[in-house]
Amino acid sequence: MERVVIVRYAEIGLKGKNRGYFEGKLIKNIRKIAKPPEIYKRYGRIIIKLKDEDFSEFENRLKYVFGIQNYSFAYAISHDIDEIKNAAKDLMGKYLNNQRTFKVETKRSYKQFPMKSQELSAYIGGYLLEQYPQLKVDVHNPEIIVGIEIKEKEAFVFVGKKKLYGGFPVGVSGKALLLLSGGIDSPVAGWYLMKRGVNIETISFLSPPFTTEKSVKKILDLAKILAKYSPDAFRTWIVPFTEVQQYIKQNVPDRYSLIIQRRSMMRIANKLAEKIKAKALITGENVGQVASQTLTNLHSIEDASNIPILRPLIGFEKTEIVDKAKEIGTFEISILPYIDSCVAFAPKNPATSSFVDEIKNIESSLIELKNLEDKVYEKIEKFVF
Ligand code: ATP
Ligand code: MG
Repeated sequence: MERVVIVRYAEIGLKGKNRGYFEGKLIKNIRKIAKPPEIYKRYGRIIIKLKDEDFSEFENRLKYVFGIQNYSFAYAISHDIDEIKNAAKDLMGKYLNNQRTFKVETKRSYKQFPMKSQELSAYIGGYLLEQYPQLKVDVHNPEIIVGIEIKEKEAFVFVGKKKLYGGFPVGVSGKALLLLSGGIDSPVAGWYLMKRGVNIETISFLSPPFTTEKSVKKILDLAKILAKYSPDAFRTWIVPFTEVQQYIKQNVPDRYSLIIQRRSMMRIANKLAEKIKAKALITGENVGQVASQTLTNLHSIEDASNIPILRPLIGFEKTEIVDKAKEIGTFEISILPYIDSCVAFAPKNPATSSFVDEIKNIESSLIELKNLEDKVYEKIEKFVF
């Protein structure tokens, strides 16, 4: 009896002609992220052969692979009925705690197998009842489901299915650049797009010397969490933004300084996006959360970008974002008190509405702005994980 993991991938199975490409990418990503000893494609599933590895450590790595719907630890065996019985008994023994009810579910794509699906389920069910008299069969709401899949070359027996995030393998949906602040929202925004198969790099704007190395470390620690989902090296860029902020602070009416700062960030992010061939920007913006996030201000900000701005959290409740941040492990880092940008550059009363034309008009009088944006861009620092 060989121990394997059966990996199932519902959504990417739907992709018609692209199916082969998606499956190939998923296998590559599993190889790079979960590092299985042996992996191959069979019957619309991915099969991973395990040797002596620590199963729980392997599971921990597997959960970082987007594109997997669910998986089961299984025995891969022959069509021999005694082997199927042994496998079912053995697995039940491993999984049984205090559960009382179970059922057996068979799927048979190999029609030459001598028993029909129902028959085999009933037969193995009966055998398990003999072996584990404390159990009862419950076909409607069982605590344990023993699965049997009869395929052409082999049979698989497993207990239960463990759900993962689903989505698409990272890399199949192109690349985008995430504006990563030290806040709660932007890491979660990046996570959601990676889940949709988008490869990301990140850019962060800091205000040294008002922000310290602790802010840098915070950004890098957040990026490292996202990097776990990436099959390839993950790049994080940090821009020392202070000179631009100081210039805006001195030359722009306080109420508009935030919007103009954000437009500067967009222009610099566009420049980097072009260099790294990212096709969109991602932000953690959300309607109504803060002054910069009204509809008119979102417009005034996005006007400075030539590429689309993706905002996966736009309609989320704050509590939903916080829950997700806790689940993926970014929350504890995000709430550390090291800020991304000096509070001295934050306006006292930021405008909650604005007109693009008015903003552009103010900007046109800022003759040094473009030069300073170029200057800070030259000082951009790259980190690779
Ligand atoms: P977050 O929790 O992600 O910081 P927020 O609710 O604080 O978001 P804002 O401060 O208005 O909202 O920022 C909106 C978005 O703009 C952020 O989610 C992020 O994508 C981007 N952003 C803001 N400040 C920075 C920064 N210093 N560096 C990089 N991106 C930033
Ligand atoms: Mg913020």
